[in-house]
Amino acid sequence: MSVADSTRPDTRLVTGGRRKEWRGRLVSPPVERTSTILFDSVADMRQRKPGLGSYAYGLQGTASHWALAEALTELEPGAAGTALLPSGLAAITAAMLAVLSAGDEVLVVDSVYGPTRIFCDKILSGFGIAARYYDPLATPEALESLVGESTRAILLESPGSLTFEVQDVPGICAMARRRGLTTILDNTWATPLLFPAIAVGVDISILAVSKHVGGHSDLLMGAVTATPEWFERIQHTAWDLGHAVSPDDAWLASRGLRTLGVRLRQHEHSGLAVAKWLDAHAAVGTMLHPALPDCPGHALWQRDFRGSSGLFAFSLLNADRKARDAVVDRLQLFGIGYSWGGFESLAIPVDPVRTVGKQNSQPLIRLHIGLEDADDLIADLEQALSV
Ligand SMILES: *Cc1c(COP(=O)(O)O)cnc(C)c1O
Repeated sequence: MSVADSTRPDTRLVTGGRRKEWRGRLVSPPVERTSTILFDSVADMRQRKPGLGSYAYGLQGTASHWALAEALTELEPGAAGTALLPSGLAAITAAMLAVLSAGDEVLVVDSVYGPTRIFCDKILSGFGIAARYYDPLATPEALESLVGESTRAILLESPGSLTFEVQDVPGICAMARRRGLTTILDNTWATPLLFPAIAVGVDISILAVSKHVGGHSDLLMGAVTATPEWFERIQHTAWDLGHAVSPDDAWLASRGLRTLGVRLRQHEHSGLAVAKWLDAHAAVGTMLHPALPDCPGHALWQRDFRGSSGLFAFSLLNADRKARDAVVDRLQLFGIGYSWGGFESLAIPVDPVRTVGKQNSQPLIRLHIGLEDADDLIADLEQALSV
């Protein structure tokens, strides 16, 4: 056995995708920009099949893309490959289009990323595919009771966007296997470092690469990593839809990936320091952070995850939306902006949409804790909350 077969995730972040035939004598494979591949002969042209290491056409990628895709696949034991898409949302929509056909129903977690919900309600419904939303805290048994004749797949997101409920992913996947359903997980919050989804039983695992993997708020990309049963179909769906990723962005994402481990540990460390400080603050109501004991799904998080990231939310006591918005406006070190997972801290006001289960009635603020000194972030929050 080669040493490379038994390495741990931090080592794989460093070695992944850096094949000598792709990088030559450089440390990392360079940016290879092209639309056209020039073949040696007609026979050469005809025998080229697109895929890792095989130049066919720019749409299907160059070494800049293969290196990133291979490195991401190596983080998910049991996965067959990774398709790269131009955004996290495109990764979700391509995966759903690969799995679902007219007449199918998909069960979608009610805490899902907002634009995924819009895609289901606006686009999938027009193709005769129904989305049925389920409570993020539903047990595998409760979820099984929703499975009907036309149910084909379950979309999970754990923890959920904005409200951070942790799902029983292994339990739901075991039920889905038994019932012949395909599971698709949005694993953006945890990444495979904190939650190796395919090994846990997920069929199709999605990352918004724009967030933690990119890590520097300077690119948009998504990745779909899948089991041998699903990978080819998903990759071809992405190509058939005409989705291509820029080689410059693939290269930047590979560069971000090399430091993902150390960055995540710092996001976790500072995120917990800030969350615990907020938890003890008189103006703060509920903390929505899976690593804090009172949060929904904490026991599942403790059982299934290897750590937490720096994205969480909290509610304010005795504050209406206007007062909540004013707190966000007073923050000086936190940027106000969508997305997260970069080196810089962000804050946004959130008012989650729910169609089933419990509504969150208190105004929420979502924080992404970046790589600044946590004490400085706490001081900023203190001044913003103390007016
Ligand atoms: C941001 C995000 C996405 C979408 O990623 P984009 O690259 O911005 O399209 C998907 N899922 C989750 C959980 C996200 O936070």
